[in-house]
Amino acid sequence: MTRTGFVFFGTGMKNQGFTTTILHGDRRRGTEFGATHAAVHPSVAFGYEKTKDLVRVFQGDMPGYVYGRQHNPTVTALEAKVTAMEEGAATVCFATGMAAISAMLWSLLKRGDHVVVSSFVFGNTNSLFNSLAELGCEVTFVDATDAANVEAALRPATRMVFVETIANPRTQVADLEGIGRLCAPRNIVYVVDNTMTSPALFRPKAVGASLIVNALTKYIGGHGNALGGAITATGLYDWAAYPHINAGYRKGDSRGWGMTQIRKKGLRDAGGTLAATAAHDIAVGAETLALRMARTNSNALAVARFLAAHPKVARVHHPGLPDHPQHARAARLFTGYGGLFSFELAAGVDCFDLLDALRVVILSSNLGDTRTLALPAAHTIFFEMGAERRASMGIADSLIRVSVGIEDEADLIEDFAQALAACKGSGAA
Ligand SMILES: *Cc1c(COP(=O)(O)O)cnc(C)c1O
Repeated sequence: MTRTGFVFFGTGMKNQGFTTTILHGDRRRGTEFGATHAAVHPSVAFGYEKTKDLVRVFQGDMPGYVYGRQHNPTVTALEAKVTAMEEGAATVCFATGMAAISAMLWSLLKRGDHVVVSSFVFGNTNSLFNSLAELGCEVTFVDATDAANVEAALRPATRMVFVETIANPRTQVADLEGIGRLCAPRNIVYVVDNTMTSPALFRPKAVGASLIVNALTKYIGGHGNALGGAITATGLYDWAAYPHINAGYRKGDSRGWGMTQIRKKGLRDAGGTLAATAAHDIAVGAETLALRMARTNSNALAVARFLAAHPKVARVHHPGLPDHPQHARAARLFTGYGGLFSFELAAGVDCFDLLDALRVVILSSNLGDTRTLALPAAHTIFFEMGAERRASMGIADSLIRVSVGIEDEADLIEDFAQALAACKGSGAA
């Protein structure tokens, strides 16, 4: 490939801070004309002067791009950034977080395999695992806040354990270290969905994760203006021990085989490709991830403390509060508690009344946005699963989920204060 006009800056610099690494990542990989951002490449097709080169790229013997469904230079630049953020080995990006999770499951699991999944996963992930069960995989949901529950569910056919860091909406924190210790000696693929913490607060590699899920739509992109997802390999799992890697993908270092299979079967064949323009928007958003998370953490904690002290509020579920069941674990593992929490109103105070009275906070189902968003969880994102399953997940009918943004703290507290004042009910009950 000709590289005319490409400029490389500071190549070989290593071990810089989280934000410095993101900001200078594109230039270190080389950009045209000294551009500070990787270019947005709209091309679906990539042409070659020599047939031999086209063939070499196709056969994986020469780096290059062939067709936009499986590779795009703008997406590659984002993949490198996500890998650096997670201190991982490789990343494959997808059109959404759900596309990333479904591609990973689809490319690695077969009929008869068994998977252990946290009972408290994201609603759509829960639904996806139920579909997987219909295709012939066995799925056991367990309370993953205690690794003993995961251990009790393991079987000889268990191939994968899937958990999230902080659950939505009740904020249970999985026994991330304990589950890591179970999976490693048994060659079980340990998948951690890091969306709620993001790599700014937690690196699942530190607890032995094999694969990391990030919904780029949420904190990494962070502005509610682009959908995207990523699977990152930590490099800790040796796929030589995994029975379902296609013979053709068993090339080179066996620690990379799983990602080859995810890129081929999961991205190329299933086709949930991230658009170059979305990859660019997410990469720009990621530049301020650490700054946004710091503000989000402190805003969320301040609002949660305010609500916990309010007579019209019965309970607040926030891992930064000392009465949270996994508070000590969250404090030990994460550098902040994130922006998501939930609360229940005192008897006689109606959650729809409260939500309708909010003026700054937006009634919306997204999370990880710069803006603060809230919704009644049981009536919306967890409605489809039914009352019984909601009860088992601890989701009360009056539960309000809040995703805190980066507004000024005083404005958020004032908004909740005036909304609570406007609600009927004394909260004395
Ligand atoms: C939102 C979310 C997803 C899915 O991401 P999308 O980009 O909306 O598909 C997966 N996991 C968690 C924890 C999420 O919050």
